[in-house]
This record gives sequence, structure tokens and C-alpha cells, in this order.
Amino acid sequence: MQSTSYLRRDLPPQLSVRYRQDLLIDGTRLPALSGRYFETRNPATEEVIAEVAEGDAADIDRAVKSARAALEGEWGQMRAADRGTLLLKFADAIRNAQDELVELESLDSGKPVSAIRRQDLPAVLDTLRYYAGFADKINGQVIPSRPDALTYTVREPLGVVGAIIPWNFPLMIGMWKIAPALACGCTVVLKPAELTSLTALRLGELAIEAGIPAGVLNVVTGFGRTAGQALVDHPDVDKVTFTGSPAVGRQILRGAAGNLKRVTLELGGKSANIVFPDADLDAAVKAASSGIFFNAGQVCSAGSRILVHEDVYTEFVGKLAARARAIRIGDPTEAGTAMGPLVSATQMKRVLDYIDIGRTEGAAVVAGGGRHGSTGCFVAATVLANVKPDMRVAQEEIFGPVATVIAFRTEEEALSIANGTAYSLAAGVWSADISRVHRFARRLKAGTVWVNTYGPTDVRLPWGGARDSGFGREHGDAAIDNFTESKVVWIQTGL
Ligand code: NAP
Ligand code: MG
Repeated sequence: MQSTSYLRRDLPPQLSVRYRQDLLIDGTRLPALSGRYFETRNPATEEVIAEVAEGDAADIDRAVKSARAALEGEWGQMRAADRGTLLLKFADAIRNAQDELVELESLDSGKPVSAIRRQDLPAVLDTLRYYAGFADKINGQVIPSRPDALTYTVREPLGVVGAIIPWNFPLMIGMWKIAPALACGCTVVLKPAELTSLTALRLGELAIEAGIPAGVLNVVTGFGRTAGQALVDHPDVDKVTFTGSPAVGRQILRGAAGNLKRVTLELGGKSANIVFPDADLDAAVKAASSGIFFNAGQVCSAGSRILVHEDVYTEFVGKLAARARAIRIGDPTEAGTAMGPLVSATQMKRVLDYIDIGRTEGAAVVAGGGRHGSTGCFVAATVLANVKPDMRVAQEEIFGPVATVIAFRTEEEALSIANGTAYSLAAGVWSADISRVHRFARRLKAGTVWVNTYGPTDVRLPWGGARDSGFGREHGDAAIDNFTESKVVWIQTGL
């Protein structure tokens, strides 16, 4: 499958980044029909690491045709249990290739290898194995309707799925979509983010190596406005599952109107993490720090607004700033690195601009506050204090390592600040008062409320938001509903 192989001397010997990365359509690596490629960079060094095929509408059309043929062919006719077995083999193939995947993900996105090994890769395997188990347990129901008829439902795969994913967790979010779609018997055309195409392509190859038939999982790399939009507009795509920004989410809804595609949107967030004086303050500081600095803040559910009761505000800010300063920022391929660069120079500039906006708005920079080093897209872990709820830095998603810390006095005030943005994805509350915790769990507008912790997710639990955070739920059996449709069979038996 390998075309041009390009092994860089400064990379670990087991890794070969293929310099030319072609599309994966119908089980074959192919250049884009246009013959065009675009460069992808390692954000830690800003060096070009590969050229990626620039797929567009014509390539999307080829991939959709291949996905349709696979759906109507071998994949559609396979026993559900065999589908599950193939997904387990896919998981084994990923596990066997994990060192390569970890390196590729880190090089392409700047994520620390330690985090990918500890968090992303295990989540990828867990997700795939969890949904493999579903494949032969997607049951219909016999529903008694009338004495002279047998009426039952079957759950059929929705069809060809377009999956469009962002760059912050390419492997993990990719698998959140691929695994349930395939378990349900759908076929997929995956469009990764242009900044992080490499692991998606490798995943597609591993699926083939595991025995999943050609065309079941196609990967078309390219730009959102061309390849992504073509997938959304394609009349033979039955569903689009999207994770990304609210602006593109709205664009996708408009495109999906053409043939009335089903749509699931997992969008951004500006999640509140609320700390009361009766909480374990050290535990709260630690979790608040990882809640905003993990993955350099490029997390949809990042606890980017930390609401702290005025009685402990000064102490909390001091401790959070100390933690922020102690975070080891640097080469993501080094095992001891806790925070790598942002994904791109554009993203770095956007985050640095937000820090300046915060300063102009009157926030106090108590840790970080600028670029880290002079090469690579690194931003120092930054804490903005004295933030007011209506400042732009408290309302808009920064998607970087920038904590905004807001003081509050009463429960009502905390709730109104917490619920006072356009987003509604996640929230956290820290308190030892069980009644208060229940009040907050009920009244916080969020798809997930964490109590005395911040940030854990599990594929068994439904995940998603409301308003500008999107709609629909991924994970758990909600994802099975997303990729199947009920059919009623009514058999007139007579009495
Ligand atoms: P983005 O700009 O919305 O891009 C997401 C994906 O959509 C990329 O693959 C992009 O391709 C593609 N795209 C862009 N324009 C398109 C169009 N017109 N039609 C179809 N596809 C198009 O988001 P991002 O900057 O990559 O990711 C950051 C955002 O994702 C943040 O807002 C974050 O909160 C959100 N996010 C949400 C979750 C969640 O679970 N709720 C998880 C992670 C991230 P290109 O890369 O080529 O532009
Ligand atoms: Mg890259």
C-alpha cells in the first residue's frame, strides 16, 4: 500500500511517515483525482512532515459510491456476530500498531505521547470493543397491536454515514463515530481535519488489514469547505455526524437540508467549573488545572470558566497559578512532557489574541500570558483572574490553555453565571453539601455535570450538549439509535 516512503532521521526508527499520504477509497490508497496535495506540519517544530492528498467533491463521490456498494454487498449481508468479530479484530490491529499511531498522532497534532498513551489510545480501544459487543444485540421488538396481526420492528442500519471530525482528538473522536456506525452495519466516509489527517488514514488501513471489507470505511482527506462540504451536500449520504465548531455546525445543517440527512452535532463549549468553600480545595485546584490545561485547553468540555466563591478566591487563584507555572511544557514526544504546542500557528495566534483581549478588558494575568519559547506553537499555561462574566474571554470559546477565574458570592449568582453563555455542554461543581450538589446537578444547563471531579468521560455514558454546543447524543446506546432506523413489519394473520 505504501507509495513514497520517507523516513526522517530524527524520528524514532520504528516510525515511517509516508511523505505522500493518499486517500483511502474502496480499500486502496489513491491520489486525489485532481492530483493535488497539501502540507501538514508538526506544530512542535513547525516542520512539514507529510503531504496529504487534497480530496474534493469528485473524490467524495467516489468514496460515497464505494460505501454504498459495500452496504449493499458483503457488509450488508454479513451476520451481525461476524461484524462484531471483525470490529474486535480491528481493535487488535490498532493495539498492535499502537506505537506507530501514538507517534503519528503526536507528530501531526502536537499532543504529548504520554497523554495519547494514557488517554486517547485506551479510549479508542475501549470504544471499539464496547460497540463490537453491540453488533449482534441490536434487537427489534414484537409489539402487540391487534389480535389479527403480528406486528414487530427491526432496526436497520441508516446507510452511508459521513463523519467529519476536528483536530483535537483525531483518533478518539474518529472512533466515537466509526465504531457505533460500523457496529450498526452502516458504512462510513470519514473526513478528518486538514491539520490532522495522518492517523485517520492509518486507521482506515488497519480496518482493511483486520479484514473489514473494502468500502466499509473510506477516508477522504482535504479541506472542510470543499471535501467536507461535498460530503454534507452529497445526495447519497444518509447521515452526517459532526464534531467541530458551532459556525461549521450551522453550515452543516443547511447542507443537510438538501436530502434531509440525519445530523448529529457535537460543538463547542465554555464550561463552568464551580468551587464552593466547603470543597476539598486542593483537589478542586488540581482538577480545575487539568480541566483547562489538559491537551493545552483544546478540549470541547474544557473547564474554561472557573467560578470560585469569594471566601476562597484569593487562595484558589494563588494555588492555580502555582500549578500552571509548574506544568512541563515542551517536546510532546518526550515522556515527561505534560503540555505540548497548540495544533497550528493560526490557533496559537488566536489564543494569544484572546489573552490580549482579556488584558484589555481588565483581567489580571497571574500566570503565563504569552507564547512559550520562540519555535513551535507553544502557549504558556495562562490564568486570568478578576474576570467578569460578560467579558469576551468569559463568553467565547478560546480553545487554548487559558483559565478564566470569576468570583461569586451566592448560589443563585453562581448558577446564573454558569448558565449565562451560548453554550451548554458540561459543568462541574465542588462542594461537600449534598443538597447543594443536587440543586446544581438539576439546575446547571449541561449535557454532563461533574460533581467533585472534572472531565472524566466514558463511552458507556451519553455525551453531547444543547444550544451552541449542538444536539444529539453520542456514546452508549444513544449512538445505536443514531445509526439505525426502526422498520415496522405488519403481518395480517387473521384471527
Ligand atoms: P471546525 O473548524 O468546525 O472543523 C471541524 C471539521 O469540519 C474539520 O474536519 C473541518 O475541515 C470541517 N469543515 C470545515 N468547514 C466545513 C464545511 N463547510 N462543511 C463540512 N465540513 C467542514 O472545528 P475545529 O477548529 O477543527 O475544532 C474545534 C472545535 O470543535 C471547537 O469549537 C470545539 O469545541 C469543537 N469540539 C467539540 C467536541 C464535542 O464533543 N462537542 C469535541 C471536540 C471539539 P478542515 O479541518 O479542513 O477545516
Ligand atoms: Mg499537523
